[in-house]
Amino acid sequence: MLSLYVHIPFCRERCLYCDFFLVTRKEHMDAFFEALGEETRAKAELIRGRRIKAIHFGGGTPSFAPVALISGWLSQVAGLASIDPDAEITLEANPEDLDPEVLARLRGAGVNRLSIGVQSFNDRKLRALGRAHSAADSSRTVAEALERFDSVAIDLMCGAEGEGLDEWEGDLRTAMSLGVPHISAYMLTLEEKTRLWRDVRKGSVKLPGEELQAAMYDLARRMLTGAGYRHYEVSNYALEGFHSRYNLGSWMREPYLGFGPSAHSFMVEGGVETRFSNACSLTRYLADPAHAVDFREVLTSRQRFDEEVFLSLRINRGLPLEFLRRGHASELPRLDAVLGGFLEKGWISLAEGMVTLTEEGFLFADQVAEELMQG
Ligand code: SF4
Repeated sequence: MLSLYVHIPFCRERCLYCDFFLVTRKEHMDAFFEALGEETRAKAELIRGRRIKAIHFGGGTPSFAPVALISGWLSQVAGLASIDPDAEITLEANPEDLDPEVLARLRGAGVNRLSIGVQSFNDRKLRALGRAHSAADSSRTVAEALERFDSVAIDLMCGAEGEGLDEWEGDLRTAMSLGVPHISAYMLTLEEKTRLWRDVRKGSVKLPGEELQAAMYDLARRMLTGAGYRHYEVSNYALEGFHSRYNLGSWMREPYLGFGPSAHSFMVEGGVETRFSNACSLTRYLADPAHAVDFREVLTSRQRFDEEVFLSLRINRGLPLEFLRRGHASELPRLDAVLGGFLEKGWISLAEGMVTLTEEGFLFADQVAEELMQG
């Protein structure tokens, strides 16, 4: 089983906080899809005859691309591999790109899951994040999407300038009242070299402090789990059966193959695990898409151990104590002390030989992972 990821590197404009690889012009869209076709032909041997369980169009803003081009690429893949009849085919979309006609065409193209970058249902907050859409767009799009798609996910973001718990609670309430089955509740993170990062450094923007951020995280956790959503990854909540199969697969270290500039891949052949990624350059991609890969590494046993620790904690599927002890055989007293410290803080629980994060510990997943990795 294999999943595919496509990075569509175009956005209308760059949001204040975003450091993803993308360009804010559309003129290379056709050339990009031609290049994508060529990259797919070049990678045909990696997918030929394989069963595809999920396809994820990310970016950038895939909904900025004409549906016919998305559909054309899906047909090309279907000619090479066998796309499972119940494969999850997700497209990330922004509210300003969607209307009933576009939604119907996406369905017709085979997309069966929409992941909408709502971020907020509040105009003040959307402006603070530098988003191109309005609160009315958020609500209208989500309602229209839910009429046509069984599986709809939205991203919500907290921690914008001037945001308090009440505004965040309002966003969560609106999302739940609309009946969205999958909610990603992200904390705004300050990425270097973004406009927001510069504004914060200049002092013209002040973001909520750590304590308020922790309270926001906790509020999301309590409200969403209280309403029946399963907290299946640090920032992700889903009603039963609505988790992202593509994301969960990649967190469970299942193979996926990426296409488009900056796309990452993880492949497993004969027990050898390889990660590789494409160059972060549209110019280079368009010039030679068949040779887009500019980084490749075969994972060492230490890297495999560390990934297993880091990713298992993010989805909280638990880590066997025996596995941790084998990985730290030369420093067992240190491992015992670290685990003891986390137990005391209430961040982990230890039962039937499995180490799992507590709900409170989820917030500290990265910190716990760092202490339990070998690297
Ligand atoms: S729409 Fe998404 S990918 Fe595009 S700039 Fe905004 S956050 Fe980044």
